[in-house]
Amino acid sequence: MKTRAAVLWGINQDWQVEEVEVDEPKEGELLVRWLAAGMCHSDEHVVTGDMVVPEDIRVAMGLPENFPMIGGHEGAGIVEAVGPGVSTLQVGDHVAASFIPACGRCSWCASGRTNQCDLGAAVFAPGQISDGTDRHRVGGKGIAMLAKLGTFAERTVIHESSAVKVAPNLPPTAVALVSCGVTTGFGSAVNRADIRPGDVVVVVGVGGVGINAVQGAKLAGAKVIVAVDPVEMKQKFALDLGATHAVASMEEAQPLVAELSVGVMADAVILTPGVMYGNLLAPALTLTAKGGTCVVTAVAPMTQMTADINLFELAMWQKEVRGVLFGAGNPRYDIPHLLGLYQAGQLKLDELVTQTYSLDQINQGYQDMRDGKNIRGVIVFD
Ligand SMILES: [Zn+2]
Ligand SMILES: [Zn+2]
Repeated sequence: MKTRAAVLWGINQDWQVEEVEVDEPKEGELLVRWLAAGMCHSDEHVVTGDMVVPEDIRVAMGLPENFPMIGGHEGAGIVEAVGPGVSTLQVGDHVAASFIPACGRCSWCASGRTNQCDLGAAVFAPGQISDGTDRHRVGGKGIAMLAKLGTFAERTVIHESSAVKVAPNLPPTAVALVSCGVTTGFGSAVNRADIRPGDVVVVVGVGGVGINAVQGAKLAGAKVIVAVDPVEMKQKFALDLGATHAVASMEEAQPLVAELSVGVMADAVILTPGVMYGNLLAPALTLTAKGGTCVVTAVAPMTQMTADINLFELAMWQKEVRGVLFGAGNPRYDIPHLLGLYQAGQLKLDELVTQTYSLDQINQGYQDMRDGKNIRGVIVFD
């Protein structure tokens, strides 16, 4: 079968929309027809090389080539065919993509931490989860799929552990956003910062991920939510979705948070800028209260090894710095759970979609993201 897909041939290149050959699903696999795909910043991290093993290290370690690669890891789709041995899904089921596969059996899954499933360790390696071989080819050459999903395509073959069944009556755009960005932001606030009623919270960067940390903080009962973002449109939007204050920088937030917390500072600071850099940590920890938590959600370049941090304050003020992946969520629980909050009117998802694009408009969509025009851009397939 042939399909159309947005393929990346190397870092700092445009996406190429081209025809790709797709095989039948093998053991444990599904053929999914994608209805919508979120244009997440993580795909952009692959384009810029932040999330790619540098070429010299890749060659030295004898790792396989990263490119060509079908992009996209946020998705909503319908199962069109199943391979042998598929037991959790059937043809016609509506699914959300799960960029972290969940086997349900490894020690991480069994202890309720499926966001750290052992299968996830290999999501950046080429080949299918089932046997490491390719199901997609262009000109006879195998193509990798981002997070083993490749949702920037009309159809791809994925493993059943990478799909979560969802209700068929949900809008595909909402399902696609919950499959990564929404859950990542929401869970950073609710699961990882452990926000309690009355807390003072600062969210640094209120784009597609941070805006959902704002929503999570609000639902968890935060008293003060300060949104920090240089883009005025994003500040305004954060105020609409639950932030109590909005400022342009962490420096500007400093006196405001001091005043609002009567000098105590923030119970939780959540770092969700477009790219995480080491120099963002010190000002974030200055905003963090004694005994408070600073959650680092944003992706840093893979080679970023240093960060500014006052180690005296870290220990003496008993502050905590916590990393987080997928909002410390469990895909099979959190994706349907958050979609339930959406159906109940408590989580805003339709409002997050600034602009929809066709697959052919993908490069325009990413340019709009770089220009700060979008909270979220989503590809909608015909
Ligand atoms: Zn597992
Ligand atoms: Zn994502």
